[in-house]
Amino acid sequence: VAIHPLHAMRKSPLGQNFLVDSEIAKSIVELADINTEDDVVEIGPGKAILTQRLLPLSRSLTAIELDPKLCRELENRFKNEAYSFRIIEGDAAKYDYSSLEQGFKVVSNLPYYAATHIMKKLIHFGNRIQSMTLMMQKEVVDRLTAEPGNKEYSSLSVYVQYHCQVERLLEIPNTAFSPRPKIDSTLFSLKPLPRPMVQVQDPQLFFKIVNAAFFHKRKMLKNNLKAWKNNFKNEQGQIYLAGIDLSRRGETLTMSEFANLANYIHSSNE
Ligand code: SAM
Repeated sequence: VAIHPLHAMRKSPLGQNFLVDSEIAKSIVELADINTEDDVVEIGPGKAILTQRLLPLSRSLTAIELDPKLCRELENRFKNEAYSFRIIEGDAAKYDYSSLEQGFKVVSNLPYYAATHIMKKLIHFGNRIQSMTLMMQKEVVDRLTAEPGNKEYSSLSVYVQYHCQVERLLEIPNTAFSPRPKIDSTLFSLKPLPRPMVQVQDPQLFFKIVNAAFFHKRKMLKNNLKAWKNNFKNEQGQIYLAGIDLSRRGETLTMSEFANLANYIHSSNE
């Protein structure tokens, strides 16, 4: 019988590709570096392959799970254990993390469909978080860790590296999951920086410029940054902004060069 494409798509609702390789689960928990002083937040515990290892290591564990059926299973499974374990039934992308005590560590094998969204939400609350050990689709992690000049370098790379120290930890093949996804995954860590990577006067303007610079990836900066053309300087036919040659492409600019652009525009428009 032919499988209707919709059914094929529904195979992993809510990004439910469960990790089934216990050796990999063990490595993830080791790399997350949890000790008995730590309050841990696990997003999407699913069938608890990570949860069961995290519980004995941590001071407390708060699990945020969207699927009500899995929440009931988790409650039943751990109800007689002595651990400090709490389940919050809800959407991790909407949760107010400021309601948790400061200084927690996040561990998650994130659901693919919402991974970037949830990560950005966590970064927003970064000053309350010690570290995040996250698993996501490899292609996205390639972008998070990319450096200038690399073809994966994008506005997401700048966003994440501005706020956090990023480290790639482990490559995980699709065979480690059930149902098996089409793509491979990567485990990485984010450590929120006490101060952003570069000093910018107006962070909103900084990110507006970064997003514009990458908007048409193949175009030169003088096209992508037209909104600020009043600040352009023409020297012998070459166009510059804050001393940066605008015939370059956004993907070649370092974080400091983006900061120079933003601070220059900010001070000239004051
Ligand atoms: N931690 C388990 C593991 O490693 O096998 C499950 C990981 S699975 C990739 C993602 C989990 O996140 C699923 O249990 C799914 O129900 C849950 N989930 C999906 N969307 C969510 C959301 N928006 N908020 C919280 N949990 C979510």
